[in-house]
Amino acid sequence: MRGLSLSRREFLLSAGAAGTCMMQSGTAVRAAESVPVAADYDVIVCGGGTSGIPAAVAAARQGAKVAVIERYGFLGGNAASSIMPCWHGLREHHSGMLTAFARQVETLGVGPAPLREGNHIEPEVVKFLFLNLATDNRIQLYLHTFITGVVMEGNRVRAVVTESKSGRRTFGAKCLVDASGDGDLCYHAGAKFDLGVQGATQGMALRFRIGYVDFDKFADWAEKAPKELHLGGLVGSVRNGGGKSWGKAFYFGSRLDLLYEKHRSRYPDLPENTYFNCSSIRPNEISINTTRVYDLIGTNADDLTKAEILMRKQAWAAWRFLRDQVGGFEQAVIVETAPQAGPRQTRTIRGDYVLDVEDAAQNRQFADSVQTCRVNYDSHDKHKYETGGNRGLVDVPYGIFLPKGLEGVLTAGRCTSCDHLMNSGFRRMENVFQSGEVAGTAAALAVRQSRTPRALAVADLQAELRRHGFMTSQKDRLERAKRA
Ligand SMILES: Cc1cc2nc3c(=O)[nH]c(=O)nc-3n(C[C@H](O)[C@H](O)[C@H](O)COP(=O)(O)OP(=O)(O)OC[C@H]3O[C@@H](n4cnc5c(N)ncnc54)[C@H](O)[C@@H]3O)c2cc1C
Repeated sequence: MRGLSLSRREFLLSAGAAGTCMMQSGTAVRAAESVPVAADYDVIVCGGGTSGIPAAVAAARQGAKVAVIERYGFLGGNAASSIMPCWHGLREHHSGMLTAFARQVETLGVGPAPLREGNHIEPEVVKFLFLNLATDNRIQLYLHTFITGVVMEGNRVRAVVTESKSGRRTFGAKCLVDASGDGDLCYHAGAKFDLGVQGATQGMALRFRIGYVDFDKFADWAEKAPKELHLGGLVGSVRNGGGKSWGKAFYFGSRLDLLYEKHRSRYPDLPENTYFNCSSIRPNEISINTTRVYDLIGTNADDLTKAEILMRKQAWAAWRFLRDQVGGFEQAVIVETAPQAGPRQTRTIRGDYVLDVEDAAQNRQFADSVQTCRVNYDSHDKHKYETGGNRGLVDVPYGIFLPKGLEGVLTAGRCTSCDHLMNSGFRRMENVFQSGEVAGTAAALAVRQSRTPRALAVADLQAELRRHGFMTSQKDRLERAKRA
C-alpha cells in the first residue's frame, strides 16, 4: 500500500457546492468544484452504528488514527434509531468486545442487565456507552455529517465526500470501513450489490413505546383471550413479576394482530400483513413491533417518506386499538415513536464470498473464519415471515468483508455479503456488532502492515482478534471451552 498524504491535496469533483447551481433546460447544473481534504486518517468508519463503533474501537486499540462519520447527532445506529431493546442471543454466544460491552451495560446499572436478563439493553444506554467508547478511545467523531460520495484512484477508495452544515468536505483514509447499514460508501464506489430478491426487500417497521400499561390487568385479559393470540408467554412473564421493576425485562411474541381485521373499520390505519411482538424493559411500559410496510426501498428518499407517513399513522392506530380493545391499556399513552422508519434490508454488498443458507444449514466451517454467526433467521418477506433456522453457529469467512472489485475498504454490519435469508440472521445486533470488531481490526492491521485488507494474511487477523478474547470460529470456541 502506498503511503498517503492527502491533507494538502484538493480533489476536483464534478459537482459544486450545494446552492450554486445554474438552471439549463430544466436541469440544475453544478460547476466543477475543488474540495479541500479536511483531514487524513488511518481508518475512517462510515456510520456510527451497531457495527461502526465496535469497528472504530477495534481499529483504535491497535493505535490507528480513527474517525467515524455519522449522519445523526447520536451514535448507536439502528439500536438507537429503531429504539431496539432486544439483542437476541447476546448471552448465549458472546465473544470479545461484545461481552465487554454487555458488562459495561451491567456496570452502568440503567435498565436491564443483558447477560442475565433476556438479552435486553436500554437503547439510551447504547447511545451513551457508544459515545463513551468513542471518546475514551480518542476516536474523532464527525456527527451531523452525511457521506455522499467517494474519491477513487483506480479501484481503490481514497477518500469520502461529505455534506453537512459546514458544506462539502472530503476526508482521506488509508483504509475505510463501510458500516452504514445501507452500504452507501461501497455503492458510491461502484460496488456490486443485491437488493433483496429482485428488488423486493424485507418490510420496514417503525417501533414505538407505550407507557402507563397496567400489566396485571393485561395478563387478566390475556388469560381469557382466544388461544390463537398466543399470549401465554406474556401471562407467564407478568405473573413472574416482569415489567414491574428494573431487572424484570421480558420479551413476548404474540398474534394480537389477528384482532386487527375484526376492528379495521374503526381503525383504518392499522397495519396489514403484520405481526405483534414486544419487549418490556421499563416499568409499566412496552416497546412494540407491529407496524410494517412493503414494496418501499430504504435507500430511496421518496419511499422512506412514504414509509414514515404510513407507519406513524399505523402506530397511532395500534395505540387507539389497544386502548379501546385490550385490557390494561385504558390509561396507556404513546411515549415515543422511533426517530426513523427502520429498514431491515437494503443493499448487501457482494463480497469475495457470499455467506448463504447452505453454509448456515450445515453450520459450515471455514479455515479463514474470522467470526461465528448464530443461525437464527428473522425474515420479513411480504408473503412469508420466516424465523428460526437451526440456531447453531456458522463460521464467517473473511471474504464476506471484502467488497468484490474494490480495494482499501471493508464492510461491516447489515450490508455485508450474505444471501437474502442469511442476511436476515446476520443482521441481528449480536452478529453485526461482532462483524464491526472484525472489520475494524482488519482495517488497522492492513494499515500497520502497509497492505490492502485483501492482501492481509488471515492468520494474522485471527491471531489479533483472539488476543482480544474474540472467538473467530466454531473450532476456536470448542478449543476454548475445553481449556476452560
Ligand atoms: C424494525 C427492526 C427491528 C429489528 N429487530 C431486531 C431485533 O429484535 N434483534 C436484533 O438483534 N436485531 C434487530 N434488527 C436488526 C438490527 O437492529 C440491525 O440490522 C443492526 O442494528 C444493523 O447494524 P449496522 O451497524 O449494520 O447498521 P446501523 O446500526 O443501522 O448503523 C448504520 C449507521 O450509519 C449511519 N449512516 C447511514 N448512512 C450514512 C451516510 N450516508 N452517511 C453517514 N452516516 C450514515 C446511520 O445513521 C447509522 O448510525 C431490527 C431491525 C429493524 C429495522
